[in-house]
Amino acid sequence: MIRTTERQVLLPSATGTQRLLTLHRYGAPETRPKAYLQAALHADETPGLLVLHHLIRLLDAAAARGEITGQIVILPYANPIGLDQNVNGYHLGRQHLGGGGNFNRHWLDFSDPLAETLAGRLGPDPEQNTEVIRGALRAFVAGRREALPPDQLGAELIDHRLRLAQEAVDSDLVLDLHCDLEALMHVFLIPAHWPEARDIAAELGCRAALLAADSGGGSFDEAFSTPWTKLAARFPEHPIPAACLSATVELRGRGDVSDTLAEADAAALFRILQRRGFVAGDPGPLPEPLCGASDLDAVDVLRAPAPGVLAYKVALGDEVKEGDVVAEVVDPSADPEAARTPVVARTDGLVLSRHVQFYVTPGTSVAKVVGSKPLPHRSDGNLLED
Ligand SMILES: [Zn+2]
Repeated sequence: MIRTTERQVLLPSATGTQRLLTLHRYGAPETRPKAYLQAALHADETPGLLVLHHLIRLLDAAAARGEITGQIVILPYANPIGLDQNVNGYHLGRQHLGGGGNFNRHWLDFSDPLAETLAGRLGPDPEQNTEVIRGALRAFVAGRREALPPDQLGAELIDHRLRLAQEAVDSDLVLDLHCDLEALMHVFLIPAHWPEARDIAAELGCRAALLAADSGGGSFDEAFSTPWTKLAARFPEHPIPAACLSATVELRGRGDVSDTLAEADAAALFRILQRRGFVAGDPGPLPEPLCGASDLDAVDVLRAPAPGVLAYKVALGDEVKEGDVVAEVVDPSADPEAARTPVVARTDGLVLSRHVQFYVTPGTSVAKVVGSKPLPHRSDGNLLED
């Protein structure tokens, strides 16, 4: 079957406007396994847009050869609302300018409302339980969409979220393509999917795989992976597998947008789809992984202690020791000998990301260092940045 394309119209936010979601589907809607890939939920994170453009070319060719064996849904841009948020020449796609907050935070926890409807419907067979839970997830999201009043404040954003969720919620694999500011390739997952997801990290050349059972931020990826682990904990007498491997893929940094990188990343995603039974054909041997997994609470998020100009002392990929100076914040108005405030690593580890804006205010995240020991200051309940 060749690709089918749907255009879904979001509830409007203003008279005379209309926003569309585009969905490309390979395979029939009932076919399993099902993969869902989307780019730029944070709409100003561009690399994934180009990666999915290249992946669609590869999948079109595979479809023409009759090699699609599962169902693959591609949203080449996940966030038409954020794509339109240009202010004074700058694209601001992380937060909803209409007051709806970060586009990748505060996603619904589907496990709570589902638990009641599942009572009495689960049994001893994990595959049957998976079917029952998938059906309940689909029905729950569809019900929320039907019940959404068009005059509700923020209806366009809620409609947007529910439409993405409707396609992702019954998938076996969800890959949400983001990027950091300046960063090495990395991925976020729940621990239940490690080491199962090692092929994803290896194919993409990830330098870190960051694990948290519940980051506390309500990210898109966790909305689809954690219902399974939460329901398994809620119903210990019934076997419930972690049936949706959902990951946030950070495609390096914002500036890492080129056909060369995107073609290679799309080829890696294609091989992941082959390895996991969505596309026929031999992906070849798995590359040597460049990283193991790290706990997300072992990642030191270094923040600017003062306003000023950021002068880095380390590069991406450097290994630092606890106490090393990662950057200095320079107060241009101070006497030169008193102008510099150091930003110091609190763990040994790899410099995974840096900022791209060099005038910073207090609290700005200036770097992430991937360590191996949980950090006490990271146990505040929310491991993700705003
Ligand atoms: Zn993002």
